[in-house]
Amino acid sequence: MIFQKSLRLQKLPPYIFAQIDEKKRKLISEGKDLIDLGIGDPDLPTPTPIINELTETARNPENHRYPSYGGLIEFKKACATWMERRFSVDLDPQTEIMSIIGSKEGLAHFTESVVNPGDFALIPDPAYPVYANATLLAGGTPVYYPLTWENKFKPRWSDIPDEVWRAVKVVFVNYPHNPTSATVNLDVYTEIVDRAKSYGFIVCSDGAYCEQGYDFLPHCALQVPGAKDVTIEFFSTSKSYNMTGWRVGFAAGNKDLIAALYQIKSTLDSGVFQPIQWAAIKAMLGDEREMVFPSKEVYRYRRTLMVEGLRRLGYEVFDGGATFYLWIKNPKGKSSADTCTELLERGIVCTPGNGFGKQGEGFFRVALTVSEEKLKTALTRFPKI
Ligand code: PLP
Repeated sequence: MIFQKSLRLQKLPPYIFAQIDEKKRKLISEGKDLIDLGIGDPDLPTPTPIINELTETARNPENHRYPSYGGLIEFKKACATWMERRFSVDLDPQTEIMSIIGSKEGLAHFTESVVNPGDFALIPDPAYPVYANATLLAGGTPVYYPLTWENKFKPRWSDIPDEVWRAVKVVFVNYPHNPTSATVNLDVYTEIVDRAKSYGFIVCSDGAYCEQGYDFLPHCALQVPGAKDVTIEFFSTSKSYNMTGWRVGFAAGNKDLIAALYQIKSTLDSGVFQPIQWAAIKAMLGDEREMVFPSKEVYRYRRTLMVEGLRRLGYEVFDGGATFYLWIKNPKGKSSADTCTELLERGIVCTPGNGFGKQGEGFFRVALTVSEEKLKTALTRFPKI
């Protein structure tokens, strides 16, 4: 290209999955049969009542116009009802909730709305890459807190030095956790909210997988009494209702933080197509036995199948009891890239752990987003170790 990319874009790290992607493309073009366990994208369909709501509301011309930036009041009220029903958290739909075009968009724009050049953001390692990349795009500096196997991928807040707490503008927290599947008790949120209040930073919590807990119902940061003073939290219909392609979620929490997000979003985008908001209302206000539980049972079954199958083959699999991911130690002496390249040659696509941060080296991630039949075939392709 004859023009230079912006300095902000140039600061982004190279795409770590590029090598695997390249190899995957080559093998597919050669006609190799690959089982793709690399993508956190449900293979199960969106529940029918949600689709029906979209098609019906799409016929109404009133829904064809620009939506409001922060979402329909009916949508925000449905989010508030959902938060009350699910977490017993009380929120004002007018000021403490707004629609987002999926949590990726919401998280990235929120970061841009609060991080200045020179600010520090404290980010889990390993983690969903958007927190660090959005920080870099905003001119900030990511600093990391390690999540380790030994500590079941929970943070050790007390290990982080005082000067870090004093320096950070925002701390990202994500449970149930991508990529490890770890969950936490409420005390992890309580501790970080307490620190945020005494040091004056923001807690940005990502609850994308909050409906994917198999043995217990995951908590959220806003359940901590007084969390609203310092917290913004992101929720999404993507994984809970098999709606990744629909691009709808919501942000909830501190009204000044919501207002900052609103300001940047009203500058850069024009909200969520109204029929999609109506469909999301149907999902959130619907009966969980119809909207959530059937897919959860499918994932639970697949999880047990793969955890047991991989352990029988000699793999050390972390089972955090949530999400549709498994986090697995590489065979001894192999890097994440070597492990995933070898698996690819055997017909299985997995994600190398180092793509999620330095602490991810030594692991690979499996997504349980293919049929049981394919998972059983995949188990025959994993080498015994
Ligand atoms: N947060 C985490 C931890 C994720 O893993 C993902 C997607 O994989 C997202 C947020 C973004 O989800 P969406 O933008 O579909 O809501």
